[in-house]
Amino acid sequence: MPATKSYAAHSATTPLEPWTLERRDPKPTDVQMDILFCGVCHSDLHFARNEWGMTVFPIVPGHEIVGKVTAVGSAVTKYKVGDYAGIGCLVDSCRECDNCKHDQEQYCTNGFVFSYGSMERDGSGMTYGGYSKSIVCHEDFVLRISDKLDLAATAPLLCAGITTYSPLRHWKVGPGMKVGILGLGGLGHMGVKFAVSMGAEVTMLSHSPSKQADAERLGAHKFVLTSDEEQVKSLAGYFDFILDTVSAQHDYNMYLGMLRTNGVMCCVGVPPAPTPVHAMGLVFGRHSLTGSLIGGIAETQEMLDYCADHNIVSDIEMIRMDEINDAYERLLKGDVRYRFVIDMA
Ligand code: NAP
Ligand code: ZN
Ligand code: ZN
Repeated sequence: MPATKSYAAHSATTPLEPWTLERRDPKPTDVQMDILFCGVCHSDLHFARNEWGMTVFPIVPGHEIVGKVTAVGSAVTKYKVGDYAGIGCLVDSCRECDNCKHDQEQYCTNGFVFSYGSMERDGSGMTYGGYSKSIVCHEDFVLRISDKLDLAATAPLLCAGITTYSPLRHWKVGPGMKVGILGLGGLGHMGVKFAVSMGAEVTMLSHSPSKQADAERLGAHKFVLTSDEEQVKSLAGYFDFILDTVSAQHDYNMYLGMLRTNGVMCCVGVPPAPTPVHAMGLVFGRHSLTGSLIGGIAETQEMLDYCADHNIVSDIEMIRMDEINDAYERLLKGDVRYRFVIDMA
């Protein structure tokens, strides 16, 4: 069992610190990788601080993983030693339920396995994520990365990318649609890039005036400050689709009022505590409030290939592993343009 250096949180209130964990020896269907880059998702912080009340400590976060294959099991057909490859939020699922059979492993009804903080399906132990030097994963959950893509800037696509791409595709965002992206962070900046590339008219909804120029550079056609009542009022009944990426408590009702008849607001951001929603904002205009969880493996591959074709990657700031605790504090302040990526080498 190869020992691997990592960074772990041992409780919700202590900083992440160096920790050595043991990866399994590769099984016949496994791929073993040295991790080169790992993105820092706000979910990592929610988990490390047990903000969703479901963390099992110690936890090694990180589910935006790009690495180089160092070994493959005897039955592996898709990868060979030396390939660059990715691992996202999922590392296993039952493959038998209706959702798994339809490439929606993220909704596996028998329990998908997250890349960290999950029990392995065979009960052999917990999973540990990408804040570590190496990882072992079934080849079915490993993603191909085009050599056209910058490896470090590709890492965030494995979560922030697929989490925004999947709902935009599911609700058929395209030309002629007015789309609002709420929150300009790791997910939000990918949401803007994708929605613009799909041909929609895109409005950035942000509570940070300092992000206006960036929103425009990313391709947003409009920028609206959500703290400005007049600007908010001007959007009444405006959007076909709003993608809500905000990580902290906020008022859904205000944004439901921005939907046109039959408009859809989809939450991907998961604030720690629930928020009241008034049915009035749903019945008037037949609005839908819904949510979406990452995306299946086939769709994640489709998204990576789409990014290679459309020259889309994440805007990143590279950090060292020992800078992670400062990075979390900066993430909470919205002080990142727009994704931290840990240089694991
Ligand atoms: P992030 O980089 O921290 O971005 C969150 C953005 O939310 C901020 O940049 C900010 O945008 C806005 N925001 C923050 N605090 C706010 C406040 N108090 N009021 C209003 N807006 C605020 O986080 P992320 O990595 O993109 O993740 C966003 C959320 O998605 C997290 O809750 C994460 O757990 C969740 N997530 C869900 C999935 C899924 O499958 N559904 C996958 C990945 C992540 P502005 O400054 O522009 O307002
Ligand atoms: Zn994530
Ligand atoms: Zn399943």
